[in-house]
Amino acid sequence: MASSRPLIAGNWKMNGLTASLDQARALVAALAEHPPAARVALCAPATLIERMAALLGGTMVAVGAQDCRPESHGAFTGDISPEMVVDAGATLVLLGHSERRALHGETDAMVAAKVIGALRAGLEPIVCVGESLDQRRAGAAVAMVRAQLAGSLPPGLAGRPWSVAYEPIWAIGTGETPTLAQIEEIHRAIRGDLVAQFGEAGAAPPILYGGSVNPGNAAEILRIAEVGGALVGGASLKAVDFVAICQAA
Ligand code: PEP
Repeated sequence: MASSRPLIAGNWKMNGLTASLDQARALVAALAEHPPAARVALCAPATLIERMAALLGGTMVAVGAQDCRPESHGAFTGDISPEMVVDAGATLVLLGHSERRALHGETDAMVAAKVIGALRAGLEPIVCVGESLDQRRAGAAVAMVRAQLAGSLPPGLAGRPWSVAYEPIWAIGTGETPTLAQIEEIHRAIRGDLVAQFGEAGAAPPILYGGSVNPGNAAEILRIAEVGGALVGGASLKAVDFVAICQAA
């Protein structure tokens, strides 16, 4: 089933001060020399979005945020709206990352509301789903991911640019990864559900894999059927590693 160009997105999480922008500079310089087949994005902490967008404007690296609220404005101290994310210069946003779900109690319904807000503002959402180790051990990984997906995707996504990131929680930041067969099983299940929900439009969104992707394992993961890119945490902080992952796609 044809889907769009792969997407390699870095997630800096709560990392990055002004000096870290040097890594973004180095990334752009290396990718300009050897342009990858994939689209590339860096999802920056909110404090760096504007400066990163200024730095990366006109390059092949897009800037993303790591979260936003559904509302456009209002009494939500400490939060940022989709419109603010756009105003700062980002074009993508991660939504429903497992750290947001676990640490901030985000439910599928909340994630779906954020997706609606992101689309209203013109952002490209990357909707994250993934099972825990207990769910994997109980044989419930596929069912869990499908349920999360069903609850997190509003109908308005059809025809818009967006993607899913499958990130098993137990693989994030641990150095552990599922087997290639386990990744393929989940990605095929996700694609089946996207097509069932959105018809032909469900074939388009890339389905990223995330969880301990590094320069050593990126190529074999990115070759798996229905893997349309990667969401990369730790390895996106060092330009040399992230470049290698981008080049592997
Ligand atoms: C992530 O934060 O989304 C992630 C996949 O992290 P890591 O690559 O460090 O496992």
